[in-house]
Amino acid sequence: MTEPVLSVRDLRVEFVTRRGVLKAIDGVSFDIAKGEVLGVVGESGAGKSVTGSAIIGLIDPPGRIAGGEIWLSGSRIDNLPPEEMRKVRGKRIGMIFQDPLTSLNPLYRIGEQLVETIQTHTDLSASAARRRAIELLAEVGIPAPERRIDGYPHEFSGGMRQRVVIALALCAEPELIIADEPTTALDVSVQAQIIALLKRLGRERGTAIMLITHDMGVIAETADRVAVMYAGRIAEIGPVRDVVQNPLHPYARGLMGAIPTLAQDADRLVQIPGSMPRLSAIPPGCPFHPRCPHAWERCTVDRPAPLPHGASQVACHLYDRNDPTAEAHQRMTHPPAEEGVAA
Ligand code: SF4
Repeated sequence: MTEPVLSVRDLRVEFVTRRGVLKAIDGVSFDIAKGEVLGVVGESGAGKSVTGSAIIGLIDPPGRIAGGEIWLSGSRIDNLPPEEMRKVRGKRIGMIFQDPLTSLNPLYRIGEQLVETIQTHTDLSASAARRRAIELLAEVGIPAPERRIDGYPHEFSGGMRQRVVIALALCAEPELIIADEPTTALDVSVQAQIIALLKRLGRERGTAIMLITHDMGVIAETADRVAVMYAGRIAEIGPVRDVVQNPLHPYARGLMGAIPTLAQDADRLVQIPGSMPRLSAIPPGCPFHPRCPHAWERCTVDRPAPLPHGASQVACHLYDRNDPTAEAHQRMTHPPAEEGVAA
């Protein structure tokens, strides 16, 4: 088997507060292969963005990586000094955020920003870097790139700005791109174009892509595999077709039932009563048990480990072949317990 581009092992991220230590990420493990798009999905507060921030070394205090390992193409990166990590961030990991203006300086022409980034990471001369910038703008679908390269960010539409940010992320030919809600701020038709662009670029360049979103519709369109996160843990991870068409984890089932059309707001799950627990009140056992229609006593005390199931892994006792009662609970449904109260 070829080495994954990104390998996250038992990652733990904590926030130290006056009220105690809050576990934002608690034992998350996954890989992303060359040219693969891994969608990371879940409601607000599930830990998707914190996982992305940990990988790029940008967890701000009082947050800290409290355990686990992060490997990029075979080298460990979670323990690098800040200066080394800054180089990894620009050169080996590209980033695309929801708001393109996070990445673009409004005071500089986009060409200046692209050329500077290219020259930081390559030995190209200024004129060769400009030619490379024009090629990149053409590659991401900016019309008349020879002319638009001298425009300022405010002269571009939201969708075109996000294309420029993608070009900026590609300047150093990174092995991994982390895209955090890259289409959320865009019109529906533009969202589809940006998704198609990311997918094509990943395939053509062999870049691994971690696509973080709350929108299952975007995941279904783009990802090869999907990780469903809940309360800082992975509830289910597997090939996108399996997870979307035949989700195993009760939370994933609710999430898939809530796949919106691109025009709808996907922020809230209508199918599952209750909401994601606060970090200060994550229930013991399975964190989903107060909302789960299948929960039984074991779920309130025993944390489910990831279990292999087909090509997927699912953290749910219903799939524990060593538990003789599990199958019966698959068929049983109970009204969800009150939030924070054991079922
Ligand atoms: Fe969690 Fe139990 Fe429901 Fe599985 S059945 S999701 S372990 S509460």
